[in-house]
Amino acid sequence: MKYFWIIAISMWTFTACGQSNENNMSDKDYPIQKSAQEWKQELTAEEYRILREKGTERAFTGKYWDHKAEGTYVCAACGTPLFSSETKFESGSGWPSYYQPVNDGNVEEKLDKSLGMVRTEVLCGKCGGHLGHVFNDGPPPTGLRYCINSASLDFQEKEE
Ligand code: FE
Repeated sequence: MKYFWIIAISMWTFTACGQSNENNMSDKDYPIQKSAQEWKQELTAEEYRILREKGTERAFTGKYWDHKAEGTYVCAACGTPLFSSETKFESGSGWPSYYQPVNDGNVEEKLDKSLGMVRTEVLCGKCGGHLGHVFNDGPPPTGLRYCINSASLDFQEKEE
């Protein structure tokens, strides 16, 4: 009977690991696929560093942290709509901050244990570009704070 439990627990562990791997999309699963060389040609050096190498722009230096126009923030790499100005708020962080994405399909959220921290990374769901992180200290109605690099975004002004 002792061996039954050892086997059962081993099987559960292997299954659990398999599932977590499946939940983390590999690069091959994104609808938009480009080589590093192609991205380097299309993006600025700063955009490439942040979107493709998971960098972070310095606080209060990006073009959108204090941007207040009405419209939609889209992925700088592939143009996918990501955040509405209606969900943007003043976080004081120096990065553009939103309390929710335009929909669940356009953004991906992934566990990030880099730099000795446990955070949730936010990526473009279509091209896999790194956008920023999401934290649990946002305002109502969601309580979430999507902390996004300006360099990962372009802005489409609302048409009157
Ligand atoms: Fe994208």
